[in-house]
Amino acid sequence: MAKYLIDSIGCIKYNEFRKKFLILLFFYFLMSSIKSLTTKIIEFRDARKWKEFHTPKNLALSLVIETGELFEIMQWKKDQDILTDINKLKPQLEDELADIAIYLLLLAHEFGINLDTAIQRKIAKNWKKYPLDKKAEFEKE
Ligand SMILES: [Mg+2]
Repeated sequence: MAKYLIDSIGCIKYNEFRKKFLILLFFYFLMSSIKSLTTKIIEFRDARKWKEFHTPKNLALSLVIETGELFEIMQWKKDQDILTDINKLKPQLEDELADIAIYLLLLAHEFGINLDTAIQRKIAKNWKKYPLDKKAEFEKE
């Protein structure tokens, strides 16, 4: 019995370790991806000498404008029609989401914000702000 308990604890610890390792691995790849994409975007921008135009205000404004372009694709359409036509709309949606992501990465870069750390922090805050039991209460309403 004692051996079973010890083995069970070992298994729990192993599973906890495995879970934490996989989470770290996920964020490592996410971090590498964000860093690598930011490097490519900066390289593209600097090759065209556009840095002087990329002030924080201009980048934030561009982020909003690109979000407007995303809305434009869906303007006047019903939610169900958007989902029905998703294959037709996807190329445009991809372009606008990419534009939004590019300005988001540029803005984070200009502010010196590590976006992957910021996202992880915000997810942790959201877990505290919206615990599962609160979600269940919300769903009852
Ligand atoms: Mg666009």
